[in-house]
Amino acid sequence: MCGIAAYFSRTDKNAARQVMLALYSQQHRGQESAGIAASNGDFIRLHKQMGYVKEVFSEAVLDQLAGMSAIGHVRYPTRGSAVLPNAQPYIIETLNGPIYAIASNGDIVNYEEVALDLKSRGVHFTSKNDGELLGRFIVYHHEREGLQIPEAIQLLMRRIRGAYSAVFLTRNQLYIFRDIHGFRPLIIGRVGPDIAVASESCALDILHAEDQREVPPGQIVVVTENNSYEIPQTDFLFKEAMPAQQPHHCIFELIYFARPDSFEFNEYVYNVRQKIGACLADYDSFSPDVVIPVPDSANFIALGYAQHKGVPFNFGLIRNHYVGRTFIKPDQYMRDESVRQKFNPLKDFFTGKRVVVVDDSIVRGTTIRKIIRMIKRAGAKEVHLRIGSPPVKFSCYYGIDTPTREELIANNMTIEQIREYVGADSLKYLSLEDLRKCVSAPERFCYACFDGHYPEPKFLGTKPVTVEENVE
Ligand code: SF4
Repeated sequence: MCGIAAYFSRTDKNAARQVMLALYSQQHRGQESAGIAASNGDFIRLHKQMGYVKEVFSEAVLDQLAGMSAIGHVRYPTRGSAVLPNAQPYIIETLNGPIYAIASNGDIVNYEEVALDLKSRGVHFTSKNDGELLGRFIVYHHEREGLQIPEAIQLLMRRIRGAYSAVFLTRNQLYIFRDIHGFRPLIIGRVGPDIAVASESCALDILHAEDQREVPPGQIVVVTENNSYEIPQTDFLFKEAMPAQQPHHCIFELIYFARPDSFEFNEYVYNVRQKIGACLADYDSFSPDVVIPVPDSANFIALGYAQHKGVPFNFGLIRNHYVGRTFIKPDQYMRDESVRQKFNPLKDFFTGKRVVVVDDSIVRGTTIRKIIRMIKRAGAKEVHLRIGSPPVKFSCYYGIDTPTREELIANNMTIEQIREYVGADSLKYLSLEDLRKCVSAPERFCYACFDGHYPEPKFLGTKPVTVEENVE
C-alpha cells in the first residue's frame, strides 16, 4: 500500500505544494519515503527522500519544484526494500532529458516476466520497483515503438497483471490510469480550473476539490494544457485483449487502510466500519462492561459494536501517534519496538472490568497478544477479543504487505488456538458472509486474503498457483 497524488494547473506554479498537502493527508498509506516530481513545462525535477512528508519537503525544496504540474508518492515497501532507490516517483530519462515521471500504488504480479522482456530489448532498470517498470514500459513503447502514450498505457493494461493506480507526468500532460480490477483506490476532482488526483478522497478534501469521482478500473484519463480532462476513446487494444472485467476492489482498504473520512469504492469508510461492528455485535451474546478499540483503525468498528449492543464505548488505550502503524513497519524488530511504544493503557480504567477489545484484523497475532497482556496487567478481569474481518489465511499479491502464508497465524492455528495464543478469554471473528453484507456491492470486491480466490491466480509468484491449491 502506498499513496499517490497529482496536481495539474494552468496558472498556479505551486502544483508541488498542492501535491505535498495531498501526500500529507495520505501519510497513513506509507511512511518510509516521500517524493514529488514537478514539471516546469521544459523538464521535470524530482525530490525524494526517506522519511515523513513534513521532513522531506521544506519550503526551500518546494521552491525548487516550482511548476504547474506535479505528481507525488508516499511509500511503504512491498516489492523491494525500504531504500531510496525504491522510493517513488521515478523519472524516466531520455535523450531529450528528464521529461517523464511516474508514481504508482500496487503490486505487479508478472513483474519478472515483463522486466525480463524489457531488459532483452535494451531497457535498463535502476530499481526493483513496480512504478519504474510501468514508467519504462510506457516510455519504451512510446519512444521506441512509436505508440501514442494512451496506446502504450492500453498495451500495458493488456500485458501487465496485478494492481496499479498510477499517475504519469510529461512536460505538459498528465495521464491517470488504473488496473482493470481497480484493486487500489484512485480519485480525481476539480479545484477551480485545476485538476487534482489522489489515492483517497480525504486528500482531495484538503485541497477543496469538487466534482470528486473515482477513475474507473481499466481506464485512462488524460489531462491536457487547457485543463480539460478526458477518457480517450481509442480503447480498442484494451477491448480486444481484455473483455470487461468485474472490479475487485481491495476490501482491506475499507476494513483497515483507508482513513475513515475517505469515500472509497463508493462507500463511506467510517460507515462500512460501523456496519462491521454492528454485524459483530449481532451474533455476540456476551455483554461487557466496556468496549474499547485498538486505536485508530478499529475505532469505528468498536463504536458500531457498542452502539448496536447498547453497551459503553470508551478509549482505554492511548496511542502515540508519532510511532506509526505497526503493521507496515518493514521488519519484526521494528514492529516489536513500536508496539511497546505505541499503546499505553489508561490508569485505573480497566480495574475489575470485563472488556471487549475490538481490532480490525489479526495478521501474525504478535501485536494483539502484547496488547491483551497490557490490558490484563492494567487490572482487567476478562478480555474478550472481537475481530472486524474473517481470519487472514492467504498472502496478498496486490499491494498489501501481508507476510508469507507460513507467518499468518490463522493459516497455522484454529480459532481456539489463536485465542489461547493471544491470551483472550474469548475470540470471535466476523464471517466472510457478514463482511459481504457490510458493503453495497459485495461482488465488486477482492476477498482473497480470507478465501484464497485470487482474481488472477495463474499470475501469482514464480510458481504457478491455482485457486484450488489455495482454498482450504
Ligand atoms: S488479497 Fe486481501 S489485501 Fe490483497 S487486494 Fe485482495 S482483499 Fe486486499
